Amino acid sequence: MFAPPKVHSVPIQGEDFAFPVNRIFCVGRNYAAHAAEMGGTVDREAPWYFTKSAQAVCQSGETVPYPAGTADFHYEMELVVAIGKPAFRVDTGRALDAVYGYACGLDMTRRDRQQDGKDARRPWSLGKDFENSAVIAAINPVAQFGAVTSQRISLSVNGAIKQDAQLSDMVWSVPEIISHLSHYYHLGAGDLIMAGTPAGVGPVVSGDMICGGISGLCDVTLTIGPAE
Ligand code: MN
Repeated sequence: MFAPPKVHSVPIQGEDFAFPVNRIFCVGRNYAAHAAEMGGTVDREAPWYFTKSAQAVCQSGETVPYPAGTADFHYEMELVVAIGKPAFRVDTGRALDAVYGYACGLDMTRRDRQQDGKDARRPWSLGKDFENSAVIAAINPVAQFGAVTSQRISLSVNGAIKQDAQLSDMVWSVPEIISHLSHYYHLGAGDLIMAGTPAGVGPVVSGDMICGGISGLCDVTLTIGPAE
């Protein structure tokens, strides 16, 4: 009837093949200081998630329109975990076996639409899952990056630092997140996990240039174009 939708993929640093994206899981409130700025607290009972469609993927370096349906478009800088092997009901000790690599990512958010959902106790899809809302930089394979420890995670808008934290500030570690998710999903190659954002989220306007970095990973950049 029609050509199948495009498979979105992410480049891999040092390789001439790319990483095809399957599902995108996003961790909520994984840094205590960000939970506080959003008016919440950290829940140590269990991590929780929302999802983005693979069609939300955007390459780093692109210029995207200021999206329809919002007047409060926010950046959130995040560590992205790229899954390369099956993981189902894995414990934390085995969870990292499934990781192919890591990347810098931007969880772009219609904050006003997310707030509508919170106020009405309804899902956040309009706030979180839309075209160009998952900006993913080139993946650095584990062999290049090493282990997640206390690397700096930061984000600037037009050169001014807005977010600045360490990966060790995450409430839930990467193995804890993978293990927990693997009790609800058959994780597999192509799945991405966006591991939550530190404090300092905020709005952007047309013309802004966002640059996010994590020590040892390729930077993620995004320019906000005119409204569509
Ligand atoms: Mn986020």
